[in-house]
Amino acid sequence: MLFREIIGNQKLKDKLMELARSGRISHTQLFLGAEGSGNLALALAFAQYVNCHNPDLNDSCGSCNSCVKFSKLVHPDLHFTYPTISPIRLSKELLEDWRAAFLENPYLSDFDWLKRLNGEGNKQGNMTADECRDIINGLGLKSYEAKFKVHIIWMPEYLSKEGNILLKLLEEPPENTLILLVGNNTEKILPTILSRAQLVKVPRVSDAELAHAISMRHQCDDQKAQDVARLSDGNYNMALTLLALEKDGYFDLFSRWMRACYSQKISDIQPVVDEISGSGREFVKNFLHYSSQMIRSAFIYRFAKQELLRVNQTELGFLVKFSPFMHDENLPQILQGLDDSVFHAERNVSLKIMFLNLSLYIGRQLKVQKKQVS
Ligand SMILES: [Zn+2]
Repeated sequence: MLFREIIGNQKLKDKLMELARSGRISHTQLFLGAEGSGNLALALAFAQYVNCHNPDLNDSCGSCNSCVKFSKLVHPDLHFTYPTISPIRLSKELLEDWRAAFLENPYLSDFDWLKRLNGEGNKQGNMTADECRDIINGLGLKSYEAKFKVHIIWMPEYLSKEGNILLKLLEEPPENTLILLVGNNTEKILPTILSRAQLVKVPRVSDAELAHAISMRHQCDDQKAQDVARLSDGNYNMALTLLALEKDGYFDLFSRWMRACYSQKISDIQPVVDEISGSGREFVKNFLHYSSQMIRSAFIYRFAKQELLRVNQTELGFLVKFSPFMHDENLPQILQGLDDSVFHAERNVSLKIMFLNLSLYIGRQLKVQKKQVS
């Protein structure tokens, strides 16, 4: 992975390269960034850069022996840990799959990865105690050829208390070893692990940079690229999904869903719920994100500056009519309801029942009157 293949965040890239050149490299680091920020790609570009034989000020050379192996993820001193599903206990059993998934989309989410492993199933991802011991054993061996042996632990959020097996290693990795943790959410990472890693904060990709990347990589016109970038909120992975699914489909469904919720009639709600929940978990998750974005936009339209809006013209037309129903007495409740549903959608719940309950809940919230300020 070359730094220039990653969207935006030039300041951070420069800082990482400067650190690498100075030799002041922290041996255990956490690349922390939201989904779609490119944190995994950046960790990998960093690992490639510190091992490149001819790096310059702007990037790895991309052509030395080490770079070639890093670019295909086949370097013998590059190791990965990622969530697996039972009965698989060790990440290395899935290495071929992992390489293919990353090379296809370096911005993939844990949800995408587990879906790939699960097929139609819905098993939870985890990182096993055996995996932790395997990391320790692997890093105890001498490196083959690299200056720095690298182990990337992607989504340490999946380490339960077994993760504590790793503490000593994280605190004092063997010589010339880099352990790069790559995660989204510090609240879900063991505090004992957090406290042992140097934090590298990966900011969200700016709208302008995301729009530019979308128009260059996906040959779409500037207006569409800007629309998709605004909706994706710095998440390139989301942008890919939106481009693939054509977000007009979301808008139409969302506007019908809100009307059905407001009616509070089961006969109106049921067909929309069937349509949404029949579209699969990934669609549902993205649709819920889209819905949160629209609910926020309605609130912004009513109470804040319109230049903050992340919508296109069709959506704006809807918001004009919908925004009077949004205010501070129901906004947090509805957003929480949508957020909780994302959490449940990723697990083994019935989507139909979940959406039915959510629809009735949102319907009640939409009827809540704003308190009059006297
Ligand atoms: Zn190189």
